[in-house]
Amino acid sequence: MSITINQDLCVGCGCCSDVCSSGALELAEKAVVYEEHCRECTACIDMCPAVAISV
Ligand code: SF4
Ligand code: SF4
Repeated sequence: MSITINQDLCVGCGCCSDVCSSGALELAEKAVVYEEHCRECTACIDMCPAVAISV
C-alpha cells in the first residue's frame, strides 16, 4: 500500500499536510508525499476536499 496524490486533482489547500503527523506530506505548489515516512493511517484521504489522495 502506498499513498498517491493525483496532481491533476490537487488544489494545493494543505489540509493533508496539516493532518499528517508523520511528516509524510508537504505542500509545494501541490501536495508531495514522502512514502518512506508514511505509516498508512489514511487520515489524509479523509481530509482531502478534492479526493486527490488514494492508496
Ligand atoms: S496515510 Fe497518514 S501517514 Fe501517510 S501521508 Fe496520509 S496522513 Fe500521513
Ligand atoms: S488535501 Fe488534497 S487538494 Fe489539498 S493539498 Fe492535499 S492532496 Fe491537494
